[in-house]
Amino acid sequence: MLEATSQYFQKAADRLRLNHNARCILLSPFRTVKVEIVVDGDDGSLLQFFGYRVQHDHSRGPMKGGLRFHPSMDEDHAGALAALMTWKTAVVNVPFGGAKGGVNCDPAKLSRRELNAVTRAYVAQLHDVIGPNLDIPAPDVNTNEEIMGWIMDEYSKYKGFSPGVVTGKPLQLFGSEGRTEATGRGVMYALECALQADGKKFGDITIALQGFGNVGSHAARLIHERGGKVVAVADHLGGVVRRSGLDIPALLKFAQAECTVNGFPRAESMPHTEIIAFDADVLIPAALEGAITKDNAQKVQARYVVEGANGPTTPEAHDILIDNGVTVVPDILANAGGVTVSYFEWVQNIQKFRWDYERVIAELEKTMKRAYEDVSELAKRHEVDLRTASFMLGVHRVREASSARQYAQSADVPSSQKFL
Ligand code: NAD
Repeated sequence: MLEATSQYFQKAADRLRLNHNARCILLSPFRTVKVEIVVDGDDGSLLQFFGYRVQHDHSRGPMKGGLRFHPSMDEDHAGALAALMTWKTAVVNVPFGGAKGGVNCDPAKLSRRELNAVTRAYVAQLHDVIGPNLDIPAPDVNTNEEIMGWIMDEYSKYKGFSPGVVTGKPLQLFGSEGRTEATGRGVMYALECALQADGKKFGDITIALQGFGNVGSHAARLIHERGGKVVAVADHLGGVVRRSGLDIPALLKFAQAECTVNGFPRAESMPHTEIIAFDADVLIPAALEGAITKDNAQKVQARYVVEGANGPTTPEAHDILIDNGVTVVPDILANAGGVTVSYFEWVQNIQKFRWDYERVIAELEKTMKRAYEDVSELAKRHEVDLRTASFMLGVHRVREASSARQYAQSADVPSSQKFL
């Protein structure tokens, strides 16, 4: 994944004519932290995990990025996802840098008490390098608002009452209206913009969706509410199909009760691996990275791929999709709704003022649509795909901020302004 993120970065840097020095400075993380986490297991044994936080860049503001609890979490993973956050916050133009972290645990194998202990131990180890003006975690895979609430509580023990240290908190703990659905809502706006560019609307399209967690389920609900026909959904345990359109409200209820879409009675079942090649107009990968690879990209039938997940498409697969005429709305644009509403939550926390739901979604819509417009205008002007344009915009904004902060604005780091 680190390799893929760097490749996308290098392509944009070529267009921006950034020299070697500028590339090295922009690519390398500001700080990487690895900590040991040891907690008491319910059975009296000691459980050992490792926690990571990679803080990639803070030129444009405090660093911001999710916290992932997954066995595959490691330094490389966190580093790649942290860099993506830096470019993403710049694309939607919120005043944050990028970070990412997590713990290499599997929450499905932990009791609630053990999960609470792991979360608190992680904060205890990291409380000096996170904070409302330093680095602000948020939910990601296998973490949720309850865990964000525990983070706020633990951090506040060290530093005093600090709701702004983390976003994605429960409403009763200074969370924001609209945060839970924000990433899925942003995916819906990104798809709407892509369709509008081709004179289409939700009623004209069918959708296949990989992943029915926070991002996927809200994207499905919101697209369904606008008349889009979600015909296939897969999660890690299985897939379900209904060509005339899945009953999304019923599927949401089922998945909430069963923790999977697998076995939903009002649909046919399908192996979850078939979702990528499913015959639908739109494919939304909203699970994990590396879902679309050079091995299955030729089989993609969708005309639009809207990346709800981070890094779901490898660079080789991306090239195949573009050669086949597919519109790919990249992760750093399509799934930026979450970090946008995280920004609104942080603003509310530091102002000690609450926005209503209508205000949050109106500001989110404005931000997402402005970012889409900025990226597609750049893509047209430079005759590049939306991913290259997104990286160009993100890298350019970070580079300009970073250079404006430095004493030495030397010829060594030439401005990318004239190349944008
Ligand atoms: P989640 O844990 O709520 O859901 C993940 C979903 O992916 C689950 O439905 C799971 O069953 C499914 N899944 C996992 N492996 C799969 C497989 N092999 N095949 C099919 N489905 C599989 O996670 P989430 O918060 O919805 O995040 C999903 C993606 O979106 C991640 O890449 C994350 O980094 C990204 N993202 C999340 C947010 C956010 O606000 N939560 C914001 C931006 C990006």
